Amino acid sequence: MKSHGYAAHDNKSPLVPYSFERRDPGPRDVVVEIAYCGICHSDIHQVRNEWGNAMYPMVPGHEIVGRVTAVGSEVTRFKPGDLAGIGVLVDSCRVCANCKADLENYCVKGFVGTYNAKGYDGVVVHGGYANNIVCDMRYVHTISPKFGDKLAGVAPLLCAGITTYSPLRHWGAGPGKKVGIVGLGGLGHMGLKFAHSFGAHVVQFTTSESKIADAKRLGADEVVISKDAAAMAKHATSFDFILDCVSAPHDLNAYLDLLRLDGTLCLVGLSEKPLPVAPFSLTSFRVALAGSNIGGMKETQEMLDYCADHGIVSDIELTSVDKLAEAYDRVIRSDVKYRFVIDMATLKSSGRISKRKTG
Ligand code: NAP
Ligand code: ZN
Ligand code: ZN
Repeated sequence: MKSHGYAAHDNKSPLVPYSFERRDPGPRDVVVEIAYCGICHSDIHQVRNEWGNAMYPMVPGHEIVGRVTAVGSEVTRFKPGDLAGIGVLVDSCRVCANCKADLENYCVKGFVGTYNAKGYDGVVVHGGYANNIVCDMRYVHTISPKFGDKLAGVAPLLCAGITTYSPLRHWGAGPGKKVGIVGLGGLGHMGLKFAHSFGAHVVQFTTSESKIADAKRLGADEVVISKDAAAMAKHATSFDFILDCVSAPHDLNAYLDLLRLDGTLCLVGLSEKPLPVAPFSLTSFRVALAGSNIGGMKETQEMLDYCADHGIVSDIELTSVDKLAEAYDRVIRSDVKYRFVIDMATLKSSGRISKRKTG
């Protein structure tokens, strides 16, 4: 199937228009015309090869929403015209204990990522900075019509949403719990919305003084500037759970020291460098350092439905495919409120421009 999108060809150059082939849809496949795709910091890590695993050309994008244009003969959950969403994974082994337990995100064989990955057949797969995508129905989510005209704000739920929803649920963020969210970016602002919605007392940690008012608007009971040691010290030994959504190297011990007895610091942020831990920060109050990776298909659907029922979407800045470099730079500078989403309609005009330029 023919696709057209934007690809990175190395770790330095800007993304450029790119035409490519996806597999022809089979009986279990759903074809989605992409309306919106979020820009996750993981896109930038991978485009720039910060995790050392880049395969070029790379069409990034794993926060995908759009409309179904075709379905295979075995597909019953979708029909042409339906809204659909695709997140961070497009396949998994389906038979390991974790896949059977609806935790495909922890597939023992290793799930197939939406982009910068090879399918089990060895063919490279490409992501959502494109006009369309083909995906096995098991890895496609339904999107409630209740979202109305907020579809662009739904796209980031497919990664930023589930990546924060899942650990907050797993560690029981809710009434009576003091929960910290570290970093007010794409993930962090969703974590803040969820923790607030689940009824926890939420403290937002940020390095950006300019984000204090927004943090309160998004549901923070308190906001702490993490560079202010005295403000940090006031919260020592008090948190049940802290979700760390920071994309760059930073001091974990500063947050471990804020946990109460048996508290947990969970990392979802994926700094390209190791983060040193002082043993005393773990032993003093029997605290745990944990991690969490997106979420399974069932929980992702549950999260999407929770959002539809509770009027939760991502706060977004809509951008166009020809402004990816500017968007990436602003994400790196922690200057986005709070997720860039690409309007894929801009691909058509951009394609025409690039044809004129090359023609
Ligand atoms: P983002 O929008 O860039 O947000 C990251 C936030 O971290 C920034 O807004 C900033 O918040 C803070 N920050 C940035 N640099 C910092 C530094 N040097 N020191 C302290 N704080 C800093 O990124 P994102 O898309 O939310 O992604 C966050 C991380 O999660 C990335 O590493 C991404 O790859 C990873 N991720 C993991 C999963 C998973 O399943 N585990 C899924 C998706 C993404 P303030 O301005 O408030 O300080
Ligand atoms: Zn992501
Ligand atoms: Zn599996």
